[in-house]
Amino acid sequence: MALTIPFDNSYARLPERFFVRQAPVPVRAPRLVMLNAPLAAELGLDAGALAAEGVEMLAGNRLPEGAEPLAQAYAGHQFGGFVPQLGDGRAILLGEVVAPDGRRFDLQLKGAGRTAFSRMGDGRAWLGPVLREYVVSEAMHALGIPTTRALAAVTTGEEVIREAILPGAVLTRVAASHIRVGTFQFFAARRDTEALRLLAGHAIDRHYPQADGPLGLLQAVIAAQARLVAQWMGVGFIHGVMNTDNTAISGETIDFGPCAFMDGYHPDTVFSSIDAYGRYAYARQADIAAWNLAQLASALVPLIDPDEETAIARATEAIRAFPALFREGWLSVFRPKIGLAAAEPGDAELIHRLLDLMATERADFTNTFRVLAEGQAGAGLKNHDGFNDWAAEWRARLRREGVTEAEAAARMRAANPAHIPRNHRVEQVIAAAVAGDFVPFKRLVGVTARPFDDQPEHAAYRAPPEPGEEVRQTFC
Ligand code: AMP
Ligand code: MG
Ligand code: MG
Repeated sequence: MALTIPFDNSYARLPERFFVRQAPVPVRAPRLVMLNAPLAAELGLDAGALAAEGVEMLAGNRLPEGAEPLAQAYAGHQFGGFVPQLGDGRAILLGEVVAPDGRRFDLQLKGAGRTAFSRMGDGRAWLGPVLREYVVSEAMHALGIPTTRALAAVTTGEEVIREAILPGAVLTRVAASHIRVGTFQFFAARRDTEALRLLAGHAIDRHYPQADGPLGLLQAVIAAQARLVAQWMGVGFIHGVMNTDNTAISGETIDFGPCAFMDGYHPDTVFSSIDAYGRYAYARQADIAAWNLAQLASALVPLIDPDEETAIARATEAIRAFPALFREGWLSVFRPKIGLAAAEPGDAELIHRLLDLMATERADFTNTFRVLAEGQAGAGLKNHDGFNDWAAEWRARLRREGVTEAEAAARMRAANPAHIPRNHRVEQVIAAAVAGDFVPFKRLVGVTARPFDDQPEHAAYRAPPEPGEEVRQTFC
């Protein structure tokens, strides 16, 4: 194979109880749907070779030299209930690539066949979730939000049975790592303190080299998750399945299951078909992140101090820092959305008053902020009196910044995207792809890769769904 990948597989060097060695299961007829050439370049990989003979590798039919394929073990709280063993049931880690700039990335195939962790599952993915993850994760990246990325999508030429017979696909996911809160829980549940110590050391080396021991690791993950969730809030993103196994230690967004960007704003918005009680609703995400981090803290207790009471006190103190970190992150995300750079005590209230106005009429989240940047009176809100009252206060607040309107507008344009992968668009491109037409998918990826550019030629992508187009539920 002309394609050489400079693997250096640090996770595979951990003890055997961290994973199960497993090669991808070959598929019948791999075909490339899309290759992410800019990402390939970032990784120092040859995009041309990947798109040609590399397709066999991207489908799991051929192992590149230096790969050490494995399925990672992890546990996790799913909707609040602890499952001591989950693990990669349909994903296989090929290995780690060290990019030319020195950063280390996991290369993982999602949908690569059954593993020791598959339980009743088939180890496969169908085209829908693969395309959803591709477009949404790449949009997240373009929005400046930490996330796993999509290197490639291939179809397998095989069928997958879900609610219907659907085309199979494999996504090549790139991540800083796939270590989850649930990875720590896996060993904590087994009272395997030695493994916990090794995992903590591995995570510190990989993600937080400046962290001082396990408590430092916990504090760093808490800070990273607080920033991450604040950034989700700023783009109206609802993860949908914030289980502890879907919470990455790196602070990247991971596991794009039934996730969605909101169109009309309401804090209680839920899309996931499996989230009957709104546990993971938009406005609950910070509380849920804190809860997930408390599970990480519990898992780390045996490492924090030999005296359990002392360890618990320190871990608790670390968790207590989360709300203030989140509030600070939230303000630093939302201030520029209304054109502010400096901080004033009433800023959170000012922003919440706008959000409350938006919520009462479910104003489009993305467009309301974007037209605010465009200086359009009314900001797309029907309640003109309410908006005008708010805007009078907002303008007074802007004047105290001492910036010109043009400067404030530039700040808002850089903070408020014009283009997000709207849910009805994602569903449309999946439907087209299932029918054999991948052009709409590629176009959507292209438009949402430049979220802050108006792209007037793609104005239709900025439109919220028409009444018949709305997608209210998303599926894993
Ligand atoms: P997720 O909902 O993607 O976070 O997955 C939760 C757990 O279910 C993980 O252990 C997955 O590996 C496993 N899983 C999900 N779908 C499948 C599948 N089709 N085959 C095998 N395991 C699966
Ligand atoms: Mg998952
Ligand atoms: Mg998933």
